[in-house]
Amino acid sequence: MAAVSQRLWAPRAWIGGRWRERVLLVVGDDGCWDAMTPDVAAPEDAEAIDGPVLPALVDAHSHAFQRAFAGLAERRDAAHDDFWSWRDRMYGVAGRVTPEQLRAIAAHLYVELLAGGYTHVCEFHYLQHDLGGRPYADPATLSHALVDAAAEAGIGLTLLPVLYERAGFTAPALRPDQRRFGTSVDDVLALQQAVRGPLVNAGVAVHSLRAARPESIVALAERSAGPLHLHVAEQSAEVDDCVAATGCRPIEWLARHAPVDARWHLVHATHSVPAEIEAVAAKGAGVVLCPGTEGNLGDGLCDLPGWLAAGVPLALGSDSQVTRAWPDELRWLEYGQRLRLRRRNVSAAPGTEPSTAARLFERMLAGGGAAAGFERWGLQRGARADLLVIDTREHALRGLPADHILDGIVFTAPGRPFARVMVAGRWRPLHDDHGIAARFAAAMAELWGMS
Ligand SMILES: [Zn+2]
Repeated sequence: MAAVSQRLWAPRAWIGGRWRERVLLVVGDDGCWDAMTPDVAAPEDAEAIDGPVLPALVDAHSHAFQRAFAGLAERRDAAHDDFWSWRDRMYGVAGRVTPEQLRAIAAHLYVELLAGGYTHVCEFHYLQHDLGGRPYADPATLSHALVDAAAEAGIGLTLLPVLYERAGFTAPALRPDQRRFGTSVDDVLALQQAVRGPLVNAGVAVHSLRAARPESIVALAERSAGPLHLHVAEQSAEVDDCVAATGCRPIEWLARHAPVDARWHLVHATHSVPAEIEAVAAKGAGVVLCPGTEGNLGDGLCDLPGWLAAGVPLALGSDSQVTRAWPDELRWLEYGQRLRLRRRNVSAAPGTEPSTAARLFERMLAGGGAAAGFERWGLQRGARADLLVIDTREHALRGLPADHILDGIVFTAPGRPFARVMVAGRWRPLHDDHGIAARFAAAMAELWGMS
């Protein structure tokens, strides 16, 4: 990447968990923050930003191909519909997407994620093989499609190739409709090494306890570096199957039998008991919540007060892509708890962090950076120079007192809260100007036979 050293000046910026006034922000020639100085007048040589500035969040859990399925599973034709019937229909898309279509779908999604306040996405990537279930000549073909899509959109990417070995705890083989997913520990390690790019890094993932053997999970953890993600305890049926197969609940099994530490990020962790939360906190692992998808799939509600009180690092994920903006995720996250507990401002901490939105945002800021493998993330020296400019002229945000703007972004439901987005010191286009939307529409027409 070319040198991008530049100076920016913002009327307000969210630094260290609070608003600072009149802030000079300096981007180093490595695309990372070099300095940020509050309480200074705008220098003549600095680009003046027209609005308050927030750090961007990481989307810590994405399956890009599922963007092609959003809005297409909202009809019920049988007596019963749940996660598992949704999964059967989702597999219908997973079995048909080509590398070219995946690139088009992902590029469009990534532009939407930038507009939704995310500047980095963790791809939990389990779609690996060709339409017949055989490895491509280059086994990383679909990984490269995601890397190319991220580069085209200008978003950062943590690729997480997924270990996927079996159909269930007592089903040692894959189902025919899972044939594109099958990987060994060696395959995952090779895929982790296969991707490169200026805004790209890679960790590893385990699909779930049901889809990987215990010895393989341990081996992958021991032989890999970087963040390690896995789906866990999303569905109550999965908890029951795990108890029947192992005698332990899923999170309990992990804490007892896997080398869980701060590298680990537990996706969903919806069904937990207090002892499991304590165990995760003691090991320093993080949790990735996907409120929009969890609501869409009827997963259940997590013990958010428990996770917050335990100090477990939290992050957000767009997962099945029915929601693609962090304000929407935080709103759903808090509303689920209000509906469950029949209380208000469940996530706030009176006295220290009374703003629900600010407390959740701060937690997701720190946890998301860790989930993507960054030592530093946000508006701090050494972190990648990413930011969001709030559009205070947006209808839903007009007239809000400045100190309530973060509350307003989450709870007044603005359609387009961010006017501009910067990634690694460069402003990124938030609307299609390179045919990305047209290629997405063409891929959708190919997949669904529409025009
Ligand atoms: Zn997922």
